[in-house]
Amino acid sequence: MSVTLVFHRDLSYLLKNHNESNKQSTVRTLDRIASVKDLIESQGVPHTEVGSIISNGTDKSFDYIPVDGEVIHVYPLTPPVDVEKSTLLRENPVKEISFIVDVNVGRLAKLLRLLGFDTLYNPDWSDKELAGIAVRHNKILLTKDRELLMRKTVTWGKLIRSISPWEQLFEVILFYGLKDQIKLFSRCTSCNSLLVPVTKEKIVDQLEPLTRIMYNEFTQCPKCGKVFWRGSHHQHILKKLQNIMTTK
Ligand SMILES: [Zn+2]
Repeated sequence: MSVTLVFHRDLSYLLKNHNESNKQSTVRTLDRIASVKDLIESQGVPHTEVGSIISNGTDKSFDYIPVDGEVIHVYPLTPPVDVEKSTLLRENPVKEISFIVDVNVGRLAKLLRLLGFDTLYNPDWSDKELAGIAVRHNKILLTKDRELLMRKTVTWGKLIRSISPWEQLFEVILFYGLKDQIKLFSRCTSCNSLLVPVTKEKIVDQLEPLTRIMYNEFTQCPKCGKVFWRGSHHQHILKKLQNIMTTK
């Protein structure tokens, strides 16, 4: 008994014991039969990375059990991925774009909040808690941990490939096509709450002398009280963001 899986495009690079580069596809023949999801994940590819499963020209679901000798083609998701749309592999769409971030890509949380995206983060959460919160609150789970994404309950997640936090941010924005949804400086980077405008008089006691002189417009987090203003670091962030906006 055997089943052949053909992993297409960048799924090849996620395979266990993958040692060839520049391959458009990689063929793996397995001598056991199980659900196609189990077979795919046994090769190191989390189900969250799969966009479609095709056999004999027909789309298959994750619980499809192949027959002896069958050849199954496995394709990655194609950006921009619309998470608000129901598909054969993911019947329950995400209601609106929001994230939960694992500690192994922790700095990404702050950057996503900086761009206004609703992002839960707590470095103390266990894998079980991350998966549970993602499911209960309909969040997209971002991580570098394949085992976490292979958990049964996780529907929406992404294995982050990039190394630096800014590159990870670009990766997420481009993957989900979020350029038009960016609301810069609208959310507290510390606690995720939406910021509200505040008059200078109300918060002047909290400001350093130079900030007090140089700036007149401020926002404040209604939850943690942190005050924000458009200082020199804003220019730095805007420059970084220009890279996202100009990347096709
Ligand atoms: Zn806050």
